[in-house]
Amino acid sequence: MTTDELHSLPQKAAEKKNENKKFFSKLKKRPPKNLDYVMQELHSAEFAVTDCLTCANCCKTTGPLFTNADIERIAKHFRMKPSVFIESYLRVDEDGDHVLQSVPCSFLGADNYCSIYDVRPKACREYPHTNRKKFHQISNLTLKNMEICPAAYNIVEAMKNRIAL
Ligand code: SF4
Ligand code: SF4
Repeated sequence: MTTDELHSLPQKAAEKKNENKKFFSKLKKRPPKNLDYVMQELHSAEFAVTDCLTCANCCKTTGPLFTNADIERIAKHFRMKPSVFIESYLRVDEDGDHVLQSVPCSFLGADNYCSIYDVRPKACREYPHTNRKKFHQISNLTLKNMEICPAAYNIVEAMKNRIAL
């Protein structure tokens, strides 16, 4: 993934936004019976060719929300009290969720490896959520993720080709 490709992604996503909104609104009304299966296929095909280690744009620009279970697990990994971990790395956002104090994420290495990979937040493991069940239910989140994640962008483009509505 080149820096230019990542910089041009918000613009590319903005250009497709109306088309994508219409697609998702139709999809919500009539989700195909095999949608979960199709999404697994499109997700696997995209991540077979996308190398997140050349990108890390999600870790650099947004970061996840941290559930209580995430906080307890990661604090334990650092042998810290959860309250000390929160004080050191997290803040509460406008929705009341724990999120990173700053981006890029403190746990992202210069080589784009996650230094807490085995205990990373659930949201990091699941990002960009393109293989989750009932994918049509998270269309607003997906429209946002398309500005950040080139894989999510490509998966939605592939969906429009694959699913006739
Ligand atoms: S999930 Fe998307 S944004 Fe994150 S590193 Fe992989 S391709 Fe990049
Ligand atoms: S915890 Fe790891 S995977 Fe999650 S945003 Fe930070 S560096 Fe990325």
